[in-house]
Amino acid sequence: MNLILLGAPGAGKGTQAERLQAERGLVQLSTGDMLRAAVAAGTETGLQAKQIMDRGDLVPDAIVVGIISDRIGQPDCARGFILDGFPRNEAQARALDAMLVQKGKKLDLVIEVQVDEKILFDRIRNRAAESASTTGTVRADDNEETLRNRLDVYRAQTAPLLPYYRAQGKLHTIDGMQTVDVVAKQIAALLDKVK
Ligand code: AMP
Repeated sequence: MNLILLGAPGAGKGTQAERLQAERGLVQLSTGDMLRAAVAAGTETGLQAKQIMDRGDLVPDAIVVGIISDRIGQPDCARGFILDGFPRNEAQARALDAMLVQKGKKLDLVIEVQVDEKILFDRIRNRAAESASTTGTVRADDNEETLRNRLDVYRAQTAPLLPYYRAQGKLHTIDGMQTVDVVAKQIAALLDKVK
């Protein structure tokens, strides 16, 4: 079972992907997490990505496509994976379609987690406050100015993936403003139906 979780920053994709990983043994592939790890490790990719991420823009397609292509070919992904934060534009979606064909894999479903923008601002504010109090650090892009840009980028570049996957008959939309448990149950029901 291979799926994409699609949604704006703060929609809850990461939270749901973690649950699916724990409950179903699917591998969470978060390009944001992988890029942050590269930044922390000071790799070439990390150096290239840092300023772009701090602004809330998209890092070059070639970087993220390369990361995902390597990752989905690894043995732990054979049982299935959850793409969290990838693809983020149509070029990435087309590259994903091509790499899946090349690797003899397929995409089973795309789940949009839909949340109103006003709520996203509240969530990101809370996420920053919680992280500051528990770890003493805050994601560099979890501030209002960058979030505004990340939402613009989502609207302009990522939202067009909704019609793209609707046309493939793969898109399902869930109301992401319900509790984490209710959203998780609805995602589970979709996965069970497709299985
Ligand atoms: P996220 O944790 O998914 O919100 O991603 C954090 C940041 O990493 C984004 O604002 C982008 O700068 C970068 N990023 C993550 N995934 C991608 C992607 N698929 N394409 C381009 N940039 C990405």
